[in-house]
Amino acid sequence: MKTYVKVKHEIDGVHSYPLATGTHSYLKDTHRHKFYITVKAEVFHMDREIEFFELKDTVSSYFKNSFSKFNNSLIYDFGKQSCEMLAKGLMEHLMIVYNTHQNRRLIITVSEDNENESEVDNI
Ligand SMILES: [Zn+2]
Repeated sequence: MKTYVKVKHEIDGVHSYPLATGTHSYLKDTHRHKFYITVKAEVFHMDREIEFFELKDTVSSYFKNSFSKFNNSLIYDFGKQSCEMLAKGLMEHLMIVYNTHQNRRLIITVSEDNENESEVDNI
């Protein structure tokens, strides 16, 4: 039996995909999404080994410390980063923060507008 905690976080951000071509070339331009981030973390005992709000604060702080805001707005500027890249960066950070157990499984999803989603799994 494995036990996980799972937290959800929402961030407004912009990004672009400069290599977009054809019918989706509009993705070259900087555009806004609501990014939905989900972190699922394995825990090794049942009494708040990773407390929900502490994990949410860790996720929030990671974005605050890693990205600037777009044109002095409240919206994060993710530059050319894809959802996959955003998930990978957060994974690398959380693997350091929560590396209390070498084999702790972490699964991170980053979605654009709750429509399209990337998933990174540390296995
Ligand atoms: Zn996009």
